[in-house]
Amino acid sequence: MLYPNELRAHYSHATVQKMVGVERFELPTHCSQSSCATRLRYTPLFVLHTLTNQYALRGGRIILALVAKVNRFIRLILLHLPSFAISFATFKTLCGNNTMTANILDGKAIAAELRQTIKTKVTARIAAGERAPGLAVVLVGQDPASEVYVRNKRRSCEEVGFYSESHDLTANCSQESLLTLIDELNAKDEIDGILVQLPLPDHIDEEAVIERILPTKDVDGFHPYNVGRLTLKMPILRPCTPKGVMTMLDKTGQKLEGMDAVIIGQSNIVGRPMAMELLAKRCTITVCHSRTKDLEQKVRNADLVVAAVGRANFVPGEWIKKGAIVIDVGINRLDTGKLAGDVHFESCKENASWITPVPGGVGPMTIATLLENTLYAAELHSQAD
Ligand code: NAD
Repeated sequence: MLYPNELRAHYSHATVQKMVGVERFELPTHCSQSSCATRLRYTPLFVLHTLTNQYALRGGRIILALVAKVNRFIRLILLHLPSFAISFATFKTLCGNNTMTANILDGKAIAAELRQTIKTKVTARIAAGERAPGLAVVLVGQDPASEVYVRNKRRSCEEVGFYSESHDLTANCSQESLLTLIDELNAKDEIDGILVQLPLPDHIDEEAVIERILPTKDVDGFHPYNVGRLTLKMPILRPCTPKGVMTMLDKTGQKLEGMDAVIIGQSNIVGRPMAMELLAKRCTITVCHSRTKDLEQKVRNADLVVAAVGRANFVPGEWIKKGAIVIDVGINRLDTGKLAGDVHFESCKENASWITPVPGGVGPMTIATLLENTLYAAELHSQAD
């Protein structure tokens, strides 16, 4: 008969044979999953070994049964721990007590996880004989904020194994030369995504530039074709910031359907596509802007608030309904040099159930989503080849 060496070391063959009758005792097996389970079931026996000896087997059986029950209970808890965490957050939300402190939606961690997934997929693509996804980043002029964004995007491309190209044009370059560059990139097989960093200098027509990019290479998701498809619930390449927000909302485990969502800001790159994303999830949408009447009351009624205004600490905590989800898209530089969002984080987190910090919230998700879109565009191009 086969039995583990650990038992052989401490008990005679005859004793082990008696122990085979003990409740939940099983012989080892070579199937990995079963052997793992068997190892767990052996644990009580070794605990038993330290407590008793073969002459006290009867008392040991009782202890064994108890330990096995505790073991089973611990395994059950471990198995259900993730859903328990979400349920606890929901429970906190429903309680609506006065000392609520929001769960933090950690954009940095979620973005890192997304980048890792992309990197794995890129490695698999290359191993299957496909080329690496390619992104061209175009920067016009020397706006310091744009330079930082572009540098981060280029670095992220390298991290996940993309092929990337940088095109830096002077601030006084002509619109024609920019459009010619876009035509060249549209025709290049190794480029799947073209990103022109906005804003552009005043003498260049942004709409003309965006429309010149092939819709299947428009990884920012700003082309009217892609915006139209999102509006019609047939998305292909979705604008990065709102798509990144949706990925974060997914992580809360909350059901968005039926929620009253208030979006503050109606820009083409955040507010409007955000409204389409949330509408597709069957939220009831209110899009607010600089001419909106009684903004405070609208925010007070909201189950979900997305702030994209561009004004530091614009939304105070007392506007936030207990248990609401707060997504802060704003990035504002304070006089102190620190970054702040559009919502007053410290007071809003006292009422919200979930909240994004600034920095470390929506920002990292935007870049990770750009990579996700570029990989998706590469997959579309591979299918079309
Ligand atoms: P924008 O200037 O194009 O739009 C701002 C919007 O806020 C406008 O629609 C305007 O009507 C509205 N608004 C202004 N004052 C208001 C008021 N008093 N009440 C209600 N609405 C008001 O800005 P944007 O490009 O949408 O960006 C908004 C913020 O989000 C900025 O801080 C920007 O830096 C940030 N942003 C962050 C990311 C990211 O990745 N985290 C991406 C894009 C933008």
